[in-house]
Amino acid sequence: MIREEGCVFCEIADKKKPADIVFEDDKVLAILSNAPTSKGQIVILCKEHYVNLFDMPLDLAQHMLAVIKKIAPGVVKAMGTDSYILGMNNGPATRNHVDHAHMHIVPRHMDDDLPKWPDGKYAEGESELIKEKIIKSL
Ligand SMILES: [Zn+2]
Repeated sequence: MIREEGCVFCEIADKKKPADIVFEDDKVLAILSNAPTSKGQIVILCKEHYVNLFDMPLDLAQHMLAVIKKIAPGVVKAMGTDSYILGMNNGPATRNHVDHAHMHIVPRHMDDDLPKWPDGKYAEGESELIKEKIIKSL
C-alpha cells in the first residue's frame, strides 16, 4: 500500500484518524467533508496515496468515478436535491488542502447561495490560438 508520511487522508484510509465514512470498498473511501461547501458534501479518496489525477493509475481513477456514479444519487436524495457538482483539484495552483487524490460531490440546491461557475471570455481570435496550442500539447 502506497503511503505518504503525515498525510491526513492516508491516516483516514488506515483508520488512524476518525472520519464519517458513508461508503468503503477495497480501493476507496467516501467520507463527509469536515469543511463542506454545502451540507452533505462527500470526499471520495483512494486508499493508496497518489497526489492527484496526474499520477493516479487509470483503473483507479475509473473505479473512483464508478463509485461516484453509484453513490451520488443517494447523496443528493438524502440532502433533498437532485443536483451536485463533481470536483477535483489537480496541481498546486488549485490551492488544494490535501495532496492526496480525492474528488468532491457537492450537493446543490436551487435556492442555495453558492456562486455560479464564473464565465470568462476570449479576445477576438484568442480561442483559435489556445485550441491549437492545446492540440499540439496532447
Ligand atoms: Zn495520502
